[in-house]
Amino acid sequence: MPDSQNPPEKMKFQLSLRRRGISDQAVLRTMEDVPRELFVEPADRGVAYCDTALGIACGQTISQPFVVAYMTEQLGLQKSHRVLEIGTGSGYQSAVLSRLCAHVLTIERYRTLADRARARLEKLGCDNVEVLLGDGFDVPAGAGNFDRILVTAAMEQIPDALAQRLEPEGVLIAPVGPLHGVQTLIRLVRTETGFERKELVDVRFVPALPGIAREL
Ligand code: SAH
Repeated sequence: MPDSQNPPEKMKFQLSLRRRGISDQAVLRTMEDVPRELFVEPADRGVAYCDTALGIACGQTISQPFVVAYMTEQLGLQKSHRVLEIGTGSGYQSAVLSRLCAHVLTIERYRTLADRARARLEKLGCDNVEVLLGDGFDVPAGAGNFDRILVTAAMEQIPDALAQRLEPEGVLIAPVGPLHGVQTLIRLVRTETGFERKELVDVRFVPALPGIAREL
């Protein structure tokens, strides 16, 4: 068995999430269940359970576990929810979401990343995730609206067209701020009269860029 499978590593991983304030039991259990070592580059398997972001193909990153757990907790997922994720990357966040809701549509602008994530998710049996090669700034109208939207790439602002894809009482979480600096996680809740906006914590994400990537 690979090193990262051994109990002390995983116990430390869980402990660090709890220590940093993650308390939702379903989220903690899911973080324990999803094998992060399958989503990192083979050379990084030994550090898969360290609480840091890691590089993946196409110059992108797999997010830091704490941030994945925190955003998932803040979404307040229910088993019945349809979720949209923008920025599939490795597919790790999608796998975490998939265990806590009914369906995940995840959109990625790099074909290589979309294909690899799809293969991993299939192998793990996450059959309620659809990986779409596309542009999160231009979500197909046919995809409908969502109970929860999670953006995992930095945006200068939340596009109104995206917020409009929330169902009533829907929740959107996105890192908002300078594309190459520190962003703030914003939580938008759709109310009867508009949107309620709350600032959560500071984060650093790779930028959301428009259009499908021309390079693979
Ligand atoms: N959630 C991922 C990490 C995302 S990194 C994980 O768990 O591994 C951000 C990803 O967003 C990158 O893969 C990047 O290519 C993608 N991205 C950036 N702009 C995008 C856009 N407009 N539409 C779809 N994906 C985008």
